[in-house]
Amino acid sequence: MRAREPLDYEHMYELAELPDSALGEELISLRREIDAREAEFAAKLAVFERHKGYLAYGCLSLLAWLRWHCRMRLSSGKTRLEMARQLEQLPSTARALAEGQITFDNARVITRTAAAVGAERMGPGEPILLEAAKELDPGLLSVAAAHLRHSIDPEGSLKDLNDAHDRRGIWLSQTFGGVFVFDGRLDPEGGAYLQTALNALMGPKKQGDSRDACERRADALVELARQALNRGKLPQVAGQKPHLSLIVRKETLEGAPGAEAADLEWAGAVPGETALRIACDCSLTEISVDKQGTPVGVGRTRRTISARLRKALVARDRHCRFPGCDMPVDWTDGHHRWHWVLGGPTVLWNLTLLCSRHHRLVHEGGWRLSDGQNGELVAVPP
Ligand SMILES: [Zn+2]
Ligand SMILES: [Zn+2]
Repeated sequence: MRAREPLDYEHMYELAELPDSALGEELISLRREIDAREAEFAAKLAVFERHKGYLAYGCLSLLAWLRWHCRMRLSSGKTRLEMARQLEQLPSTARALAEGQITFDNARVITRTAAAVGAERMGPGEPILLEAAKELDPGLLSVAAAHLRHSIDPEGSLKDLNDAHDRRGIWLSQTFGGVFVFDGRLDPEGGAYLQTALNALMGPKKQGDSRDACERRADALVELARQALNRGKLPQVAGQKPHLSLIVRKETLEGAPGAEAADLEWAGAVPGETALRIACDCSLTEISVDKQGTPVGVGRTRRTISARLRKALVARDRHCRFPGCDMPVDWTDGHHRWHWVLGGPTVLWNLTLLCSRHHRLVHEGGWRLSDGQNGELVAVPP
């Protein structure tokens, strides 16, 4: 076995003084070296598997041996094992990996394709992918491999797609703190629908937008649901258009000390500021209760901002009026600058269109809007 030089930590700290270009080159060559060692690992692993070398360690399978003795996760072990088996059938790919001509990730794309179609059918496909692997990143190489796979094995491609479709699912749960957590998988077409819709809602990142990509994607997903609900085209539930339902006491809206939180259906307790934001532009039903909290009367449901007033507001504002924001009207709520709960009138001069993000910034975020010059608004941070 080849002896390896131990790492020289003193030398590693000196690296901080290297110019970035030299450091970049060093990283590239280090990566090549690591990837080439993966070829060596794969070749030896294939022999070890054939000899059932793991039995001498008391392990019943090679995967168990990799987990216990190489401290590998099951997924990493499976990847190495498939790689080891396939590289034995693909000597050109194995050599290219060992010589640092292709990376581990690109070799993985080739071996995965070979595993899917069978090494014997791979035939002329291997040199094509190998040449591409020297030029492309793993993402582009995967696209090329999928095309090649389809041309060699159309039935297999269709089967994979159907399997991916069968494994679709979204896991949605709520934590005790009320936060929703989800995870899921979509088949390629489903993913393409979602990605296309999210991209359209995210739009290009604007100057001054401090949200990172994850936050922007989360906001876009919520906006997708919000706009779908607001359009009123979704199927009715219990004879009503689906909508958010908030139950809140008057004292909570008024910010009275000791008032309980509001209750948002599906989400649980939400603070008074959130209730005020939702109440700014909503359908409102007043319910009177007696001292025990038993409902004794239900008023008529009305829009806090009528459809006619909303039309006038849209005609005047045309987009979110937060300084620098031009989010179109579909994205906006009507915001009472002097809240109706606190006695503010629901008239045009007291209303302004705000997109969901800025409406939230004004209520929960504590920003204040004041009048600037030429009818523009000025936003003052808390
Ligand atoms: Zn508001
Ligand atoms: Zn806005």
